[in-house]
Amino acid sequence: MNVYDSARMADVLAPEGYVSTDAAYDADLVILNTCHIREKAAEKVYSELGRIRDSKEEGTMIAVAGCVAQAEGDEIMRRAPYVDIVVGPQSYHRLPKLIEDAKPAQKSKGRSRVVDTDFPAESKFDFLPAAEVHGPSAFLTIQEGCDKFCAFCVVPYTRGVEFSRPVEAVLKEARQLVADGAVELTLLGQNVNAYHGDDGGLAGLIRKLADIEGLERLRYTTSHPRDMDADLIAVHGDVPQLMPYLHLPIQSGSDAILARMNRKHGAADYLKIIDELRKVRPDIALSSDFIVGHPGETDADFEATMSLIRSVEYAQAYSFKYSKRPGTPASDMDDQIPEDVKAARLTALQTLLNEQQLAFNERTVDISMPVLFERRGKLANQIAGRSPYMQSVHVTCQNAEEADQYFGKIVPVRVTGAFANSLAGCLENEARRESTQREPARA
Ligand code: SAH
Ligand code: SF4
Repeated sequence: MNVYDSARMADVLAPEGYVSTDAAYDADLVILNTCHIREKAAEKVYSELGRIRDSKEEGTMIAVAGCVAQAEGDEIMRRAPYVDIVVGPQSYHRLPKLIEDAKPAQKSKGRSRVVDTDFPAESKFDFLPAAEVHGPSAFLTIQEGCDKFCAFCVVPYTRGVEFSRPVEAVLKEARQLVADGAVELTLLGQNVNAYHGDDGGLAGLIRKLADIEGLERLRYTTSHPRDMDADLIAVHGDVPQLMPYLHLPIQSGSDAILARMNRKHGAADYLKIIDELRKVRPDIALSSDFIVGHPGETDADFEATMSLIRSVEYAQAYSFKYSKRPGTPASDMDDQIPEDVKAARLTALQTLLNEQQLAFNERTVDISMPVLFERRGKLANQIAGRSPYMQSVHVTCQNAEEADQYFGKIVPVRVTGAFANSLAGCLENEARRESTQREPARA
């Protein structure tokens, strides 16, 4: 979502004459878009700000955006007095005005530093210009915020209450993105499947999006198990554009910990959803988030998580040590887990998840899959893209023309090799050509 937000900030500033640059230290304006989800991410902001201060040109303005700005606006202004602007995730449509207010010319009037961490009554989406398309795969935020208040999580405090964009606004943005060249859309939300646009939920929206001519692939992230309703599960079986990959975080496999986390679902509810998804889409690849060392987590609780992972067999996953977030209920719980126990559990969990990821990748060897090529590879004539299952696939073309020809397109690829984090493949038409050449001539 921060990638999407950063792109939208660039869109807001384009009419003001700003263009993006790779050389941050030469820029007129540096916006640091930040994440507050774990302590490490939040602390990084201050070290990065120090680096920018030391290297920037005279006159470069510095803005801090995102959830650290939202949660620690005053603290940022105190610890980093050279920051000019602090802007929360719901206010960035006001950036042009904030920049104007923070310009040196305003200094004499004593209003040279500005903080905007409101949750404005207006929705920023009504004020943002049309999104620019950069490549064949685009993000589209359809929902923001969260009312679920998991005990460990800051999102409800930094992103605010749950909000869904109207269906028509989403369809309009989607049509525009496709007209501008996107063939894949990833629908975004902190709780994307809690989406409740005016006429129903995410399932209805996906069916409508699937009618857009030229939109070949749809994905959505991140989902909560409690909002995986029957209709949404059914969509996985009957909308071919919806890719067979789902990121469905469970956090823990222990019911006792899930209750402490205030997740309001048990491990069995989650496994039932997975079963139903696999009934309608047997090849669906699954991903999850896990937190190890949540307050109160015993060895047996951790073992329950390991056992759930073994029974699901994930295609990939994200996992984290529990990180205390100020203001959240879990940060005040008295049975915090020592750092070394968290570290050992994370290593064990990641070892298992990495094995499963490699095994999943290996099961796709020799299979032909449509790949959407969206990036250049590191090697000459190499292009990289995503399989339907979100695997990264690298293909080396015969020459630069061929690489250009397939860039941005969905092309059948035969998988030839599997690694921990990616696949190697060759274009299906070449695989066929080679095998014809190899076949003995039958007169
Ligand atoms: N809405 C999604 C998750 C959004 S936050 C859901 O309900 O699953 C992204 C991930 O960050 C979470 O799934 C969780 O695994 C992790 N996370 C959130 N707060 C955390 C904390 N305090 N410590 C460690 N990981 C955390
Ligand atoms: Fe955070 Fe997700 Fe829980 Fe909301 S549902 S509080 S975003 S972990």
